[in-house]
Amino acid sequence: MSRKICLCIGHGSNAKGVYDPGAVSKDKKYHEHKLARKIAKYAADYLGCDLVNYGSDKCLTKRIKAVNAGNYGFAADIHLNAGGGTGTEVYYYHGSPTGKKAAAEISKSVSSDLGVRNRGPKVRLNAYGKDYFGFIRLTDPCAVLIECVFIDCENDLEKVRTEAGCKKCGVAIGKALEKVFGDMTEYTVLTETQIKSKASDESKVKGTLLKGDKIVITVTSSDGKWGRLKDGRGWVKLGRHLSGKAEK
Ligand SMILES: [Zn+2]
Repeated sequence: MSRKICLCIGHGSNAKGVYDPGAVSKDKKYHEHKLARKIAKYAADYLGCDLVNYGSDKCLTKRIKAVNAGNYGFAADIHLNAGGGTGTEVYYYHGSPTGKKAAAEISKSVSSDLGVRNRGPKVRLNAYGKDYFGFIRLTDPCAVLIECVFIDCENDLEKVRTEAGCKKCGVAIGKALEKVFGDMTEYTVLTETQIKSKASDESKVKGTLLKGDKIVITVTSSDGKWGRLKDGRGWVKLGRHLSGKAEK
């Protein structure tokens, strides 16, 4: 992975610590924050990356602070849109080619996997010519703000209403960032090692890599300890049981 990535969940708490749902569906049953939280978790699991505001306890100022404390190379805040539109759009820091590239890939991946309109990468500036969204303007790393779908559009909401829909959306974000920031690092397995479902010791065992197996890692987890297999089988712990670029 060429950059350490952080995902962040939009809304959940205001500056006074009171619950802020963000936008709500027309029937008031679905909250932007709750859906964004599920989507972000699936995306973070896919990338093995840090997730800010999972406890719904961080207002925007605190979310920005957490991102800036983490030494990240890229950050994305996850939202659902409202206001009478349809489809996926992703805002990026104006003038950042990497931000634009990431925003375009995420927007394309989410919209095509969910089957909604691709509104594409966007820039939004305030009256002073600075980025409108605080998360984009005030975070140190290259940042984007993902508006997955419109929560107040019935057809859009249908796509992410269920757990399966949130997973599809989160994985689409993960795949896009894997494409933009992932690399293809080849290793040879030196000692038999387990394949895990997630980038953690506690996750399920999915299989075993045998001595002599050739593997390709695309993504490294935020803690630097795990690598995601390109073939999609899961995660392996990085270390001396693998030979390759890491040994040089
Ligand atoms: Zn929002």
